[in-house]
Amino acid sequence: MKKNLVVGAGFSGAVIARLIAERLDESVLVIDKKDHIAGNSYDYRDSNGIMIHKHGSHIFHTNSEKVWQFIRRFGDFNTYMHEVVGIIDGIEAQIPFNFNTLYQVFPESLARRLEEKLLKAFKYNTKVPILEFQKQADSDLKFLAEYVYEKIFLNYTTKQWGVSPKEVDGAVTARVPVYLSKDNRYFQDKYQGIPIEGYAKLVENILSHKNIEVRLNTEYSGMEGFDRVFYTGSIDEFFDYKFGVLPYRSVYFKFEEYDREFYQSHACVNYPNNYDFTRIHEYKHYLNERSDKTVIAKEYSESFELGKNERYYPISDKANVELYHKYLDEVKKMNKEVYFLGRLGDYKYYNMDSAIERAITLFEEVL
Ligand code: UDP
Repeated sequence: MKKNLVVGAGFSGAVIARLIAERLDESVLVIDKKDHIAGNSYDYRDSNGIMIHKHGSHIFHTNSEKVWQFIRRFGDFNTYMHEVVGIIDGIEAQIPFNFNTLYQVFPESLARRLEEKLLKAFKYNTKVPILEFQKQADSDLKFLAEYVYEKIFLNYTTKQWGVSPKEVDGAVTARVPVYLSKDNRYFQDKYQGIPIEGYAKLVENILSHKNIEVRLNTEYSGMEGFDRVFYTGSIDEFFDYKFGVLPYRSVYFKFEEYDREFYQSHACVNYPNNYDFTRIHEYKHYLNERSDKTVIAKEYSESFELGKNERYYPISDKANVELYHKYLDEVKKMNKEVYFLGRLGDYKYYNMDSAIERAITLFEEVL
């Protein structure tokens, strides 16, 4: 029977640990340097009874039957469907930009003209990334594309990534495409919701198995004593940064409590053009919690700096991906059973469902 070490107790680590424990009946030690499980999806109920997502809003959504079936074994989800509004010229407008947004931000006659032109130029119910959407010949549609680019993407992306939308990987802004639809939801996935008992409990349930031991406040200190290692931390750290530090974006949150029922209309309100924060999260919306008080978090973005803050978002430009692969090549040379997975381990901007799917696929492929 092989001995397995999983480094990191977030979704990726918990899922791979569970599969090994349950399907191979092997022992798994899961370590995490933090004092809690669930990684950046960690949440807790505060004294007002409101579930707080410590590291920003987490909304579970997936089209994968496999992922949904797997995750549902460990907790129930509500039927929450995420909607986001952004403050555009002082008006609350739907994001992603859709036909409803048109009528929110423009005078009706202009909105109608743009709507007609859009319906001629695009198929209804399609999604167009902003950088594609900007390639318009018609002067009205060109005006619209520039409006959306400037009012929704330019300043938000500059705050979030430190560079303009043209300089970030196109896949990043394509996560929030212009949506030729009246669907106000942020995600269109078949399954979406918030775990009723929270993400930390969900991950705790995944890890709860007789073959799994979890040790918190524990740094990785080598493979000795283990046949296999599954590493969900950043690969440069594994190799003591010998080729340099892999860049990431970090975020931090300023929490505020208010003596009123609600602070804002939606769980998440984006502020592309005002203030230094990118968005405000108001947590009680997620599980429809009742309280006379409310808790919000203002989200700020900054560069990741070793020892100063945490990694949140890989920055997948050419140089960084090359650096990642330089490290990955070192793994092949090791001739040991070491696998990298997760947002940090794979250096990929995974959503929670993709992280779970990746762990399941890794298990199926190599074990
Ligand atoms: N974005 C933007 N304006 C918005 C919302 C998103 O410019 O109002 C861009 C920004 O570059 C952001 C990316 O789209 O980083 C992806 O947004 P998403 O909401 O998916 O980011 P996450 O919730 O993963 O931080």
